[in-house]
Order: sequence, then structure tokens, then C-alpha cells
Amino acid sequence: MTSQETVDHKYVYDFAEGNRDLKDLLGGKGANLAEMTNLGLPVPPGFTITTEACQAYLATGREPDGLAGQIEAHLESLERGMGRRLGDPHDPLLVSVRSGAKFSMPGMMETVLNVGLNDRSVVGLAAQAGGNERFAWDSYRRLIQMFGKTVCEVPGEEFEHALDEAKRARGTTSDLDLDADDLRGLVGAYKKIFLKHTGRDFPQEPREQLDLAIRAVFESWNAERAVLYRRQERIPADLGTAVNVVAMVFGNLGPDSGTGVAFTRDPASGAQGIYGDYLANAQGEDVVAGIRNTVPLQDLERLDKRSYDELLDIMARLEGHYRDLCDIEFTIERGKLWMLQTRVGKRTAAAAFVIAGQLVDEGLIDLDEALHRVNGAQLAQLMFPRFQLDHDFEPVARGVGASPGAASGKVVFTSARAVELAAEGEAVILVRRETNPDDLNGMIAARGILTSRGGKTSHAAVVARGMGKTCVSGADEIDVNVPAKRFTVAGQTVHEGDVVSIDGTTGKVYLGEVPVTPSEVVRYFEGTLDPHEADDALVKAVHRIMTHADAARRLAVRANADTGADAARARRFGAQGIGLCRTEHMFLGDRRELVERLILARTDTERADALAALLPLQRDDFVEIFREMDGLPVTVRLIDPPLHEFLPPLEQLAVDVAVAQERGEDVAKEEALLAAVRRMHEENPMLGLRGVRLGLVIPGLFAMQVRAIAEAAVRVTRDGGSACPEIMVPLVGAVQELETVRAEAEKIIAEVVGDSGVEVLIGTMIEVPRAALTAGQIAEAAQFFSFGTNDLTQMGWGFSRDDVEGAFFWRYLELGIFGISPFESIDRDGVGRLVRIAAEEGRAARPGLKLGVCGEHGGDPESVHFFHSVGLDYVSCSPFRVPVARLEAGRAAVETVGSDSR
Ligand code: ADP
Ligand code: MG
Ligand code: MG
Repeated sequence: MTSQETVDHKYVYDFAEGNRDLKDLLGGKGANLAEMTNLGLPVPPGFTITTEACQAYLATGREPDGLAGQIEAHLESLERGMGRRLGDPHDPLLVSVRSGAKFSMPGMMETVLNVGLNDRSVVGLAAQAGGNERFAWDSYRRLIQMFGKTVCEVPGEEFEHALDEAKRARGTTSDLDLDADDLRGLVGAYKKIFLKHTGRDFPQEPREQLDLAIRAVFESWNAERAVLYRRQERIPADLGTAVNVVAMVFGNLGPDSGTGVAFTRDPASGAQGIYGDYLANAQGEDVVAGIRNTVPLQDLERLDKRSYDELLDIMARLEGHYRDLCDIEFTIERGKLWMLQTRVGKRTAAAAFVIAGQLVDEGLIDLDEALHRVNGAQLAQLMFPRFQLDHDFEPVARGVGASPGAASGKVVFTSARAVELAAEGEAVILVRRETNPDDLNGMIAARGILTSRGGKTSHAAVVARGMGKTCVSGADEIDVNVPAKRFTVAGQTVHEGDVVSIDGTTGKVYLGEVPVTPSEVVRYFEGTLDPHEADDALVKAVHRIMTHADAARRLAVRANADTGADAARARRFGAQGIGLCRTEHMFLGDRRELVERLILARTDTERADALAALLPLQRDDFVEIFREMDGLPVTVRLIDPPLHEFLPPLEQLAVDVAVAQERGEDVAKEEALLAAVRRMHEENPMLGLRGVRLGLVIPGLFAMQVRAIAEAAVRVTRDGGSACPEIMVPLVGAVQELETVRAEAEKIIAEVVGDSGVEVLIGTMIEVPRAALTAGQIAEAAQFFSFGTNDLTQMGWGFSRDDVEGAFFWRYLELGIFGISPFESIDRDGVGRLVRIAAEEGRAARPGLKLGVCGEHGGDPESVHFFHSVGLDYVSCSPFRVPVARLEAGRAAVETVGSDSR
């Protein structure tokens, strides 16, 4: 078959041939121009060259066969329809060449207007415009400027300078004061600039102008900024852009012409009304370029009532048709309105909720659709307090916005001081070089955390995000001196007790107090703001959509909570139980001494004594939590971290011992501790003696915890409450481990529970890859699985989280090895596959096996959708993320497969 016999692949679509569902092929702009055309709205005629043509061009470096001919044919039909020819010296057709990809993308070539003008047709254009020479030369100079800049990469400033020069010569600051002669002169200056930078004259042949512009749009897909933007937004690199060729209409024909942009509702608040800007006697790009002062769109009513009424009418039709907020670009040519663009408009998080609610009221969408139109990231944004930056506050330093929110408070440098001051009712900001697990109490007490080291994945960042606490990390201009209780920044010294403000969204650090507005949405979730009484459209909309999400979702949402206070908060936020209660904090603080006794025990009796002393303390902790969660399940994880984490660090002990010896004090205990620390040292603590392994090695440890849980449950139940404990064994890799623990635990439970009616489940975490792969066996011994996806990710990838995030994740992200850290959003293909296998094989072995996930992924929107799709029963996340998980679980349930949530 010769290429002539090949039926040409269709690369060009007339506006009348397309529709809004063809965004992949025609790009967003092209698809929507086609949609408006078919709605009968006044769109200048034109055609769209497909993204496939762009892909073919980028693959081969030349236009695909058949493209040139199709462009020719569509151009001819456009010329026939307009009764003008491109480049006709007496009555030229002019066109615009506009890029338009599926997703709007800064960094790509924008638009060239007035293509088709040259030294001869500029005269014809003036004649056709009733002798309006000013208009014709203004259009021509714009063409050379835009063409030079976007097609030939001539530096835009050179044209700007020449324009400024012309205005200066005329003694004006407005381009409106330039007359035809000025503009003719400017065209001459622009041509010289063009020649200087490109080595050739400005192309006079209209068809060459058109072809070069189209090719430049294709190539702009791979411009550096576009590539960067795609990577950031995770837009696939192979989509390509479409090119729209549109007959020109002119807003620069005089005072009865103009151009403008409009929104059908306020994109900031969602309020109904007319929002937009209008500029008389101007071409499109002037409005956004801010060259002249625009007037509010309402003023158009006075200037041109007919066009204004028509525009309002069209806006209402578009909203009804798209069933959403639309943004619009239009031009008026001598009193005739033309629509040049529309799309579903971007909006703030608050507006997204408000508009979704309004559209339901207006009967345009149903609640499922409203739920689909908002997302967890938006909800999370609305839950953070914000700075009111009306006054001029200058940041003194900038770090990483590690955990969003806005916090002001007195600077403290130690966890202890943070707790002390917070107890006195002070707001404090904990400032450290970096944080470690010992800072936990201080972090809980503080309003915010500021560190000079570490990024988005440092300890401070991760823990703060988990707590929903504001954190700026890695503000490296700050020099922290903890012993001296001060830090220096930008030549200033900040002492303990001085006030700073940190913005965890932007990473900015301010000296002094910046006023903060609390989140109304949080007040609503906490129950202090009644949505029916609030006169706040946002709170009402959030309430309504959350209610629907809760009704729609299949996944239950639990919270990770270790204390009664956390549990109470989680419950207010809608948690349906606790999915992870860590018991390690129950070994901290003043209980460390007992833990030391446990570790140092030389005889069974000494060990048993230490455990017996810990038992009532743990039992009280559990009683508090079970009471708060009355009637709801509480999954308690038996102790997980290596025991040496509870001992002082080696260096500190060594110094203590040396100092005490020097003074001639009795150092027997310190020496014993030091020896224990040395003995227990591990090269890879993450893979060492922890989790179930501890339980199997240290007699009585798990037994004590199991007894404390069972006794607490019995006590709460006897007091008239209802406790539903689920004991979770961490780090199991083989069913035999679980069986051993379970046999011992069941004996204790039977003994404690007696006839109290309390039921205690025993299950396991699935966080070691081997456990996922032998889930069928493990399910025989487990009453539930809870996926510990943090460890599963660490062990699945072989990443030591604390090391890798700082060391090379940036490079992996840059190379696109992953689009997002697998600790933030679950890696579906690898770690997710382990989850899927374990879920399937576990359920095959034990039908109805209860499946959940605990860990940060439980509050991550994308991961929640994944957990929904593999059929888990619940997700568990930090209390602050519970509403986000509820919303996303609802969205997952109503979303049709393959729908696009971008
Ligand atoms: P962007 O994607 O940057 O908005 P556009 O392709 O929409 O770029 O074009 C920028 C401006 O040029 C638009 O605001 C529009 O008003 C104007 N414009 C584009 N095509 C035409 C045309 N055929 N006639 C008149 N103005 C146009
Ligand atoms: Mg536009
Ligand atoms: Mg774990």
C-alpha cells in the first residue's frame, strides 16, 4: 500500500466536529470551544489540530503525513465561511494560533494573535476597518511581538522597551495614546529586533507564519518549564498538546470594542454573582497582562447593555450546561459579543465545598456528584488555622512547609520547658535543630515545631503531620543553640520566651506574633459550631457533604490514639474505633525506672517484680481509653520498639559513669545500665529485637500487657461500659510466632475475663513481607489483620526510612522513579500488591477476616481509595486526618471506575 492509498488519519477537527468529552484528543480549550460552538454560542469559527498530530511530530521531528493537506482543507473552509482569505492584501482573514493541552499548563507556548498580517495586508485591514489605520498597525505590532517572543524566542523585554520608548516619545504612559504613525514606527522597530535575534526578516508569507506557529506550539510541549510542571503535577509526559486555529475577532477596534474575563461565581468564596474584568479597546492578552487598568465587569452594563445582557445569559447557560463554576474569556467587536474560551474554573478549597452545596440546591447535581467534586486535600486545608497577613509581616527565614497551619508562641528549646510553659497556659513553639522521640511530649505541648535541619520527611515533619501540628523544618538560616537557649537568624538573636510565628504551609518564619484565625471547620468537627445555626455557608456545605460521605462509604474510619485525650478527640472527629493504640508511651516518663529494672533484672523474680509494678499503670491507661471509646473497638498493639530505646543513650551514660566515678560516688547501677546498653546495641534496630520477637524472648512481658488489657476491659464492663479490645501482635513473619503468643494470651484472657462477657480478639499486624506472602497460614491463627504499611513499605523496598528520606529521595523524585514518596502514598504496584495478596489469601483461609490498615497511609487520600478497592474493612489514621479519611472513603464509594479526580 502506498501512502497515497492510506486513508488519512484524521488530525484536524472543525469546531463543529468536536465536543467537551474529546479533551484527550482536542485539549481542554479545543474541546470546550467545540462544545460552545455546538451549543450555538457565538464562537469565532476555527479548527483544532489534535494531540495525536503533536505526538507524531514530537516522535519523528516532522509533521505527520496528511497533516498539511488537512490544515489546508480546513483553512479553505474557514476562508469560505468568513468570506476572506488568509493574507489577502485587500481584505485579509487573520487567525489566532493557540495551544491547549488536556490539562492547562503554564510553561507552554501561549498564543499568537493576528497571524496573516504582513506589510501589504496591514493596509487592507485598515481599509476594511473603515480606514482605521491605528487599529491595523496596532494589530501588526502585536503579531510581530507575540510571534517573535513565543515562536522565535526573541526576548520579550526588547519589545517592551521599544513600546515604552514610543510612549515616552509621545509623552504618555498609555498605549491608547499612540497613533497610527507611532505604531507604524513601532512595527519598524520591532522588525529590527526580530532580525537582530533571528537572523532573518519577519516572515511575510501568511502560511509560513501559520506553520511556524503551529510547530512552535508542538515543540513547547517539551519546554523546560512545561516538563517541570508536569513532573510536579504528575501529568503524563506523552499526552502532547492540541493547537487551535481561530478566526480573529477584534477588541481593539475602538471604544465600542473590548475584551474581558469572567467567572460565573466567586472562585474565592463560591458566592453567587458576577465576577470579572473588562478592558475597552484592547486585545485579549491585555486584560491578564495588567497593561492598563481594567474595570469591573458590572461596568459593561453601562458601556454596552446589549452585550452585557447577552453575556449574562450565556454565563447562566454555561453553568447549567457544565453544572459547575465556569471561567470565560470574551471579546466584543463593535458591539458584537464573541466567546473565546470557557472551562470549569479553578477555585479555592472553601469555594469548592460551597459551590458543590449550591449546585445541589439548584438541582444541577446530586449529592454523589457534590462529593466527587471536593477532596480530602481541600478539606485538610480548611482544617488549619491561618495567619491574617494584612499587615506587612516580613519573614526572617524560610524552611520547608512540613506540616500545614499557622502557629505563634513563645520560643522554647527543650521538651521539658515546652510542657512546663504549656501547663501554665502559654502557647509555645518548640525550636530544635532536629527532633527525636524524646521530644514527643514537648511536641504535644507545643503549638508548633520549628527545626533548622531536615525536610518534609524528617522526624519533626512526620510526627507533626501525624499530630496535625504546625511544623516548619529545615529553616537552615536559623542557628539553634540549645544550651544557651537562643537562636540567631538574620543577625538577630531570639531568646527563650520571645515570640515567633511559623507558617507550616509556606515554610515562612516570622518574629513576633502574627494574628491567627482558627478554622471554623475544625470547630464544626469538634462540635462547638452547630452547622444549622452557623451563618457560614462553608460550614453548612461541609456538614452536608460529610453527612453524605458517611452514608455512602463502605470503609469504616478509625483513629490512631494512645491516650484517653487522643481517643476523645478522635471520637469527636468521627472515628469509629481505635485502629492503633501504641503501648510504648506507657513505658516512658516516670515509668522509665521500672523499665530499667526490667531490663537489668538478673533473676526471674526481679523481672516479675518489675512487670508487676508496671501492670497497674498500664491497666489504668487502658481503662481510660476503653471508657472514652465506649462500645467501639480498640486495637492495642503489644510493645513494638527495641527495649534499648527506653534506656539513656550510650554517650550520656558513659559520661555519667565517668563523672560519678571521679566524684567517688556509687556507680553500680549506672555501670550496669551502661553494660546493658552496650550489650543491646544493634546495627539495624529496625530489623532487630523488636515486636513479637521481644515477646518471645522476654518472659512475662506480653503476658503483663495482655493481662492489663483484659483486666481493664473487665473493669470498664463491670462499671456498666462496654470495652471491645483487639490485641495486635506486631512484626509477625511466621504463623508459629503468632501461635505461641496467642496460646499464652488466651490462657490469661480466659482466666481474667471469666464470665464477665468481655470478648478479646487476637490478631496481627501484617508489616513484614513474609507475613503478607504467608497470609493464608497466618490467618488460621489471627482473628484480624491490620496492615502496618509504614514497615511494610520499609521492608518491601528495603528502605530505612529515617536514612533514605534525607539521603536520596529527592533524586528518586527528580528521576521519576516514584512520583511521590511511598511513605506518603502507598505504592500500589509493589507494597500495594503485598496488601492485596494478603487480603485475598487471608480471607480465603478465614472468610470474613477483619482487615484494616494503620499508619500514615490510612489518612492519605489516594491510599484510602486503594484500600477501598482491595476490600479492607477500615482505615485508621491520626485523629486530625479522620475527617479527610471519611470524606475520601465516601468519594471512593461513589466514584465510578476510571473517573478522573484531578
Ligand atoms: P491562554 O491559554 O493563555 O488563556 P488563549 O489561547 O486563551 O491563551 O489566548 C489569550 C488571549 O488571546 C485570550 O484571552 C483571548 O481573548 C485572545 N484571543 C485568542 N484567540 C483570539 C481570537 N481568535 N480573536 C480574538 N482574541 C483572541
Ligand atoms: Mg485563555
Ligand atoms: Mg511497624
